[in-house]
Amino acid sequence: VTVTSPTELGLRVRRFLARHRDSGTFIPGCDAWLSGFSPSFSALLGEQGWIGVTWPVQYGGQGLEQRHRFAVTEELLAAGAPVAAHWTADRQSGPSILQYGTEEQKRSILPGIAAGRCFFAIGMSEPDSGSDLASVRTTAKKTDSGWVLTGRKLWTSHAHHAHKMIALCRTAPAGEDRHAGLSQFIVDLQSPGITVNPVRLIDGGHHFNEVVLDDVPLPDQALLGIEGQGWKQVTQELTFERGGPERYMSTFPLVAAALARVTASPASRQAIGKIVADLWSMRQLSLGVLAESTAGRPADRNAAITKDLGTRLEQSLIDEVRQLVATEADPTASDEYERLLAEAILHSPGFTIRGGTTEILKGVIAKMSGLR
Ligand SMILES: Cc1cc2nc3c(=O)[nH]c(=O)nc-3n(C[C@H](O)[C@H](O)[C@H](O)COP(=O)(O)OP(=O)(O)OC[C@H]3O[C@@H](n4cnc5c(N)ncnc54)[C@H](O)[C@@H]3O)c2cc1C
Repeated sequence: VTVTSPTELGLRVRRFLARHRDSGTFIPGCDAWLSGFSPSFSALLGEQGWIGVTWPVQYGGQGLEQRHRFAVTEELLAAGAPVAAHWTADRQSGPSILQYGTEEQKRSILPGIAAGRCFFAIGMSEPDSGSDLASVRTTAKKTDSGWVLTGRKLWTSHAHHAHKMIALCRTAPAGEDRHAGLSQFIVDLQSPGITVNPVRLIDGGHHFNEVVLDDVPLPDQALLGIEGQGWKQVTQELTFERGGPERYMSTFPLVAAALARVTASPASRQAIGKIVADLWSMRQLSLGVLAESTAGRPADRNAAITKDLGTRLEQSLIDEVRQLVATEADPTASDEYERLLAEAILHSPGFTIRGGTTEILKGVIAKMSGLR
């Protein structure tokens, strides 16, 4: 398939999604990049070549530019498509493996991700270690044949049906420099010694888990990158995690549904103008993060700004559209707007927590700006 521009690719994705929505392959959801878990839909996107689009062809990618990936993700989010199964792997696990992995890891893992058939979970947070990530207590001890992992990860989205997880572990005791002695591992979630316990959401949904690691044996090849360099690597991973359009578009399907039924008046025109301007500003900020990282410049500060401003916007949009189209929120409603409104309300508290809380992001921004 010849692709000439990100815009053209985006339009192709838009047409594909409209066709599949109309034929009932999926129904649009709010926050569907985290809660819309559909292996068959991910495989469908993999067939189109729309996962790992920037990765080299020999690893299953399309060798396209970051702007192409941005166009694809933006359309998937706008449509509220069920993309959660592959989202983490496409956004951060695959890019981390591409950056730090061995040739063997790249060849054995990336093509499966790009095909929409290999899904990853994020193994960072633990009980008592969320914001202060360097305090993780899960250990990885060297053995003759590899490593043994012991500890507990928490809030691990989709660990119950992901194939692998990148786990941040302590491989040497914390000394003066707390950021030293951490390492990342690619953990096969079917390994012996792993128990995945569900943690239910407020609406009864299940994506959260506790992952208990009870002397889990891993081969030498499970180490990702360099032993002891886990902090540097995880910080890079968080930049992938924070700067993208999913940080301001989780409630976009609700906005679109509201605009479809709003009645024209001077007040509604003004309100819609503000929503569009806010979203467009976030888009420019996110594209700025992309431009910086594509040019090889550090993008962590602007990624943190994007995540902080974007998640607060995607939360406040709920109230703004309610002013435009007042209705009851009902998760079981057949009316799409009522259902999307309920989804948005129930999921929105997590927006400013996941991927780093608002307070922590403000600290990162201050530090990176030389203010702290
Ligand atoms: C929807 C969702 C999905 C998630 N998915 C995953 C996942 O897949 N994998 C994973 O590893 N984690 C995941 N998380 C966990 C998430 O990264 C953590 O919840 C987050 O980092 C906060 O950590 P904590 O919950 O331990 O809160 P804490 O760190 O205990 O923070 C509690 C409160 O104290 C504030 N606080 C803490 N330290 C400071 C400070 N120094 N200064 C000022 N305020 C401070 C925080 O801002 C917060 O308001 C997910 C979370 C959510 C909500």
